[in-house]
Amino acid sequence: MDSRDKVLDQYSSKLYKNRKEHVIQIEDGEPNVIAADTRAIPGIMTNRGCCYAGCKGVVIGPLKDVVQIVHGPIGCSYYAWGTRRNKAKGDENTKNFLEYCFSTDMQETDIVFGGEKKLKKAIKEAVEIFDPACIMIASTCPVGLIGDDIHAVAAEAEEMYNIKVVAFSCEGYKGVSQSGGHHIANNGLMKNVIGTGDAKPVKYSINLLGEYNIGGDGWEICRVLKRIGYNIVSVMTGDGSYEEMKNAHTADLNLVQCHRSINYIAEMLKTKYGTEWLKVNFIGIEGIKQSLRDVAAFFNDPALTAKTEAVIADEEEEIAIGMVYYKSMLKDKTAAIYVGGSRTHHYINLLKSLGVEVILAGYEFAHRDDYEGRQVLPLKMDADSKNIESITVVKDPAKYRTFHTEERIKELKEAGLPIESYDGLWADIADKAMITDDYNQFETEAFLKLLKPDIFFSGIKDKYIVQRSGVPSRQLHSYDYSGPYAGFKGALNFARDVTLAVNTPAFSLVQAPWKSEPTLIGNLGGME
Ligand code: SF4
Repeated sequence: MDSRDKVLDQYSSKLYKNRKEHVIQIEDGEPNVIAADTRAIPGIMTNRGCCYAGCKGVVIGPLKDVVQIVHGPIGCSYYAWGTRRNKAKGDENTKNFLEYCFSTDMQETDIVFGGEKKLKKAIKEAVEIFDPACIMIASTCPVGLIGDDIHAVAAEAEEMYNIKVVAFSCEGYKGVSQSGGHHIANNGLMKNVIGTGDAKPVKYSINLLGEYNIGGDGWEICRVLKRIGYNIVSVMTGDGSYEEMKNAHTADLNLVQCHRSINYIAEMLKTKYGTEWLKVNFIGIEGIKQSLRDVAAFFNDPALTAKTEAVIADEEEEIAIGMVYYKSMLKDKTAAIYVGGSRTHHYINLLKSLGVEVILAGYEFAHRDDYEGRQVLPLKMDADSKNIESITVVKDPAKYRTFHTEERIKELKEAGLPIESYDGLWADIADKAMITDDYNQFETEAFLKLLKPDIFFSGIKDKYIVQRSGVPSRQLHSYDYSGPYAGFKGALNFARDVTLAVNTPAFSLVQAPWKSEPTLIGNLGGME
């Protein structure tokens, strides 16, 4: 019986029927198909979060100059307060509210009589105390159930205070995971924010999409892009702002880092404003170099291409000695990676370049296109995700502009540029790797025992389960409070942290010595 069968065999027949589609072993040369983005099994201890977490926690939360009011009881706001490390800096032009958590703190009376009055009062207070240019309201579970009309409250407040007020109906029970919340956030930003600014287009301008500046990742990527000479119009949304995002439609190109959370905006920007998008990966040296070269190929300016190569050579030289050393320390190790919806793929190549093979991997809430590539689109939506609004945008005749002709785009695609394309995890995972979609605690523990990776990358909920089993663990959501991990310097930070984790002496002391060696030596009848 192989490892997959040994794990699945322990389920009841009903559970087996469900999970066998989500747990697969990659087969060489086979069209590997996986079930994803379906309802989690009740009671199975999934690692997933909710729609509110995907909308407020992931996509809109990092917008620093926005007061984000969480409409609901206090838990949803409190638990998300400062726990995701999307860093941001304010300056003389941009306010930064990220150190706060704003909540309407609903009570029993608000559930019984409705919470709209309290929400209006919260908006009034926020305007008076903080004077923001934009307020966003995020719904939590009870709001949808009691029927508060947060969109009407937002429209009224927008008129009353002459600021932008956007409401997001991202109640936690919608969809099956954080993923539905990403989609709702993308729709709201596209309908209400993007394209409302009046800035004029500038040369070599780009938006960085799906980069949330965890541990300073976005800053490191932007540093390199600016060195080459690009103008960054907006970052969605790490250290991003409402003011920048209003003018996102003026960029020449969108770079998509996290495909899962922001592909909707990338697609809508293309339809409405004509901006192409390119899949990039700024994690791992090979990924960064390829991405920078792809962006340069898109703009096709010899000066920009030459600067790209000069910056690559310079940045690479700076980290070269360190990378060689860490590679010597990590060679032939094996790893497991379970993250949300994109990092698993992004980190595989970085680990590969350090000599580490990923033998066990998966996502919490990715869709089939994140595993198998966008060629599987469109996917049939199941009943659980039908309550996630899907919007259609149309060409904006006044603001629509294209950087290249259709023929040129076709040529670039034929030359291999990943324009509007993403090949998914399958493109880089090794044959025979074990993949688990929507992984749960039982499967985590069972595969750990069977496959014994040298290091396990995941999140805070399973970190200590893994370490108790004697396997070092690093968090790939919070970076264990380290980072940045993106960019050239980030790759070096990552290599250092992994080397330290794998070589921590404590892991050789997990078993008490008397379990494997005799500690008492005595004589019996004069014999030892
Ligand atoms: S599931 Fe509901 S109650 Fe729980 S965090 Fe999400 S919105 Fe809040």
